[in-house]
Amino acid sequence: MKGVVDLHSHSRFSDGTLSVPELMALAASRGIDLIALTDHDEVSGIAQARAEAATHAMQFVAGVEISSQWCGLSIHVVGLRIDEHSPALLETLADIRVTRIERAHAMGAEFAKVGIANVFEGAVRYAPNPELVSRTHFARHLVDSGVCGSMGEVFNRFMKPGKPGYVAHEWMPLADTISAIRGAGGRAVLAHPGRYDTTWTGGPNGLVKAFADAGGDGIEVVCAAHHPREWAEYGALSRKFSLMASIGCDFHSPFESRVKFGDLPLLSPSLKPIWHDWPEAETLMKASRNSPLGMPC
Ligand code: AMP
Ligand code: MN
Ligand code: MN
Ligand code: MN
Repeated sequence: MKGVVDLHSHSRFSDGTLSVPELMALAASRGIDLIALTDHDEVSGIAQARAEAATHAMQFVAGVEISSQWCGLSIHVVGLRIDEHSPALLETLADIRVTRIERAHAMGAEFAKVGIANVFEGAVRYAPNPELVSRTHFARHLVDSGVCGSMGEVFNRFMKPGKPGYVAHEWMPLADTISAIRGAGGRAVLAHPGRYDTTWTGGPNGLVKAFADAGGDGIEVVCAAHHPREWAEYGALSRKFSLMASIGCDFHSPFESRVKFGDLPLLSPSLKPIWHDWPEAETLMKASRNSPLGMPC
């Protein structure tokens, strides 16, 4: 065991393309020792993921990635080691999924205005979970139907603020999201902090500070959305605001993910891992070898 941890991944219960058994088998084959399933706004895959992880002798914690907002920015918060049976959490997630569907219909109407018909209907065909229709499903549909050449192009041309297929959405406030996760016994982790446009909100420092002030537990330091130089930057911010550090490749699909399971470096020993006191991580903590991030941090 090398102590390889990945705490951010998606299955077909949200916008991943693999079934839960396929996802867990892939993670195991890539040498992951501790895994979390973190589907968007959905925990229906957790029981199966836990069972599948066990068949591969991987340690598992229940997770979720909740769509949230702060200062007008759409922010993702990963909840880790949650009680997926918490009635309050389940109710919160069900409410979010209802508003997601409303947004998806509105997005279809926006595409129709610019002459692209039946986009909602097309996106739904890509969403195995009818309650969870994401921009990712819109993007896959628009690529496969020839409107755009890549998912990146769909986002750039249509699905960003100010673009014709974008619908501004009111997600749950950041502080409430953190409370919902903590109320379900989990730890709240700011997902891919380098991915938000914080130009007008005090830069990354302002967001990470707000997250810490609102009761957040940790931030993703090593993740696929971050350039290697950002590992050091977010490592420093995690120490500055006494937040624990997390790691995850945000897996969605073997064909879409830039970083494969197990390819991210181990967390710097100078950081406090979000899993440092989890029973699931006990063996791993003993076994993990120190590995520098490649840059001082
Ligand atoms: P939603 O939760 O419906 O707003 O969709 C957000 C999802 O879109 C994220 O979780 C990513 O999986 C995906 N996404 C966001 N930006 C991009 C991009 N530029 N290229 C591909 N996928 C993206
Ligand atoms: Mn996603
Ligand atoms: Mn995300
Ligand atoms: Mn994600």
